[in-house]
Amino acid sequence: MDQLGRLKQLLSEISDLHAIAELLQWDQQTMLPSGAAPGRAEQLETLERTIHRRSQSAALGRLLDKIPENTGSPEDQALLRRARRDFRKHAAIPVALAGKIAATSARATAAWLQARETDDFRILAPHLEKLFSLKREYAGCFPEAETPYDALLDLYEEGMTTRELDPLFAELRREQTALVRAWSNSAAPLPALPPGSFPATRQRALSRRVAIALGYDTAHGRLDEVEHPFTITIGSGDVRITTAIKPGQPLSALFSTIHECGHALYEQGINPAFDRTPLADGASLGFHESQSRFYENQLARSKPFWEYFYPALQRSFPAVRSLALEDFMRIINNVEPSLIRTEADEATYNLHILLRYELERGILDQTVRVADLPELWREKMREYLGVIPETDRDGVLQDIHWPGGDFGYFPTYALGNLIAGELREKMLRELPDVEAAIRNGDFQLLREYLRREIHRFGAQFTPRELHLRLFGTEKISAQPYLRYLRGKFSHAS
Ligand code: ZN
Repeated sequence: MDQLGRLKQLLSEISDLHAIAELLQWDQQTMLPSGAAPGRAEQLETLERTIHRRSQSAALGRLLDKIPENTGSPEDQALLRRARRDFRKHAAIPVALAGKIAATSARATAAWLQARETDDFRILAPHLEKLFSLKREYAGCFPEAETPYDALLDLYEEGMTTRELDPLFAELRREQTALVRAWSNSAAPLPALPPGSFPATRQRALSRRVAIALGYDTAHGRLDEVEHPFTITIGSGDVRITTAIKPGQPLSALFSTIHECGHALYEQGINPAFDRTPLADGASLGFHESQSRFYENQLARSKPFWEYFYPALQRSFPAVRSLALEDFMRIINNVEPSLIRTEADEATYNLHILLRYELERGILDQTVRVADLPELWREKMREYLGVIPETDRDGVLQDIHWPGGDFGYFPTYALGNLIAGELREKMLRELPDVEAAIRNGDFQLLREYLRREIHRFGAQFTPRELHLRLFGTEKISAQPYLRYLRGKFSHAS
């Protein structure tokens, strides 16, 4: 076997181990009896250690050193680039530090659950303090990054920097706070979803029907129920989605299924030749989120989508039979500043991200103290959204990211919105018939377009390269998304 063949062999074994870890995690979140949780944590830790060792093994390093850059096809060269990057990222971190971070975030996550239960941030604070300090150490392993925050951001969004984010986010802050203020000063009273029963079985059936109509392939996936929905790829040909049925929020399961479906269509659309390689992945978290948010918002809150699906919704839930489509559209496209990020509407969502970005940056460069987070959170909520959480559960304790050690992750959600905005304008230009197709229940035109332009490439291109291919520039622009928001939400002012 030649060197490239040997490299592919090593990478496919690492990829299989990842797939096994994903399966254990999927099981943990959907099926695992609670008494089996400690044993499962041990199994996952063993597996993670094995993966970590293999990912930075001397054999892999030697092979990556020896193979010349321009070996093989363009896909092979992309594989080499990606494998070298993954190897560098692993090898830069001392094993002891990686272990300490894993153990500390496991403890912090447990403390977070407890802190939420008693609404007491002080239970989490010392763990968070330690975790942030370890992550500063971690960032220090990448001296080429301009700031510690840049080193962490690059793990989720390759090549993105605070230098580029700052002006982009300043633009969002200025325009979206103005938009939200104008809306709340002038919006007419909103019709309400009529009271009535929205049985779980019907929510489940409708969610499934919509996912399949959008092109989700159930021969290579399944839909299950969990508390916090997610999408997970368990190796080749197995992309699973989950949803949560929430009492009192009858449309939540449907929209969350469509969101996860956007992620799953991306994964299911990747070139099968990339199976069992690190290229069987999205270009970045921002690109991944652009797909889910495109489906959830730009598509599933649009008039053409509901011109097709509204009769099915009305058949499922007699309560909405007397509700006009126009009123339904206003209900699902309302702007309302709220406390919880995951429930935020399109006009306010990015503001939740800005707040988190500013706070986590402050902690990493040590201008913000962990102890001050709850108060700073309330201040920024008042400033950006005009609402103040009464409890920390609805404030600083709402997300799992910080206790989980994911610092620098939040911006990718906002980037996803912006890329979705860019994509929408491009698609409407290049596929003038797409709205008519959607109105007729044909969602394949849209899916094939996204597959052709984005999905099939997997991680073959860096996010910057892919952005350049799609939009003629490496830089993400906020303007298309802001134009979309203004078009949709400023008519009331
Ligand atoms: Zn998502």
